[in-house]
Amino acid sequence: MSNVLPKLNATPSHELTIPSTQRTVSYRPYLVKEEKILLLAFESKDQKAALKAMINTIEACVSDTINVSKLTMFDIEYMFTQIRSKSVGESTKIMVKCSECEHGNEVSVDLSQVSVDVPDIDNNIKISDEITIEAKYPSFEVFINNWQEEMKEAELTYKIVNHCISAVITEDTRIDAEDVSEQEIATFVESMNAQQFKKLTDFVSTMPTMKKDISFTCGSCSHNNEQTLAGISDFFS
Ligand SMILES: [Zn+2]
Repeated sequence: MSNVLPKLNATPSHELTIPSTQRTVSYRPYLVKEEKILLLAFESKDQKAALKAMINTIEACVSDTINVSKLTMFDIEYMFTQIRSKSVGESTKIMVKCSECEHGNEVSVDLSQVSVDVPDIDNNIKISDEITIEAKYPSFEVFINNWQEEMKEAELTYKIVNHCISAVITEDTRIDAEDVSEQEIATFVESMNAQQFKKLTDFVSTMPTMKKDISFTCGSCSHNNEQTLAGISDFFS
């Protein structure tokens, strides 16, 4: 006779595709011990704590080796939502305001149907005849380190834009951003003219987000609403 209890839910059984890399990985649903930590983090209303709890959940549940520090914000949002949908149920109820009368309506959303469309754009940005910037979407770590409560979007863009440069390419050299100091990158960006800088911020603004179209009839004024949820805060409000 054995005194050892059997192990529950140890095997991964689902797959998802990481949006930024298109790599498919296996994962298991999160368990009670992980859900407890998530609930506490979400209840704290501290967005950084909530983001960290989501990242820890992804690390715990994905069985393949992944470098979480390289994941983008939209990777984290999408991966967490997929894991959550297999953990607590594919549909979630959220409150959405009617666009006509602002009445709050409870709408059911199928989380397994959310998507992230990564635009098919050229990430080589030519900023002068001689210099091209190879751009990348910043990792979530950049957001955690730079984001502050009540920050305006333009201010955040200004702070993260330096982290969107993955290399600077001239006719005969390619300099990886990882090989130069952050200060050197900052000086390089500050030396751009307005048009050159705009090309870089335009790239930042193409950064994808998790989306889902919803429609509902307002319970108060009967208006037929067609809205798009975008970003994780829309999905778990
Ligand atoms: Zn209404």
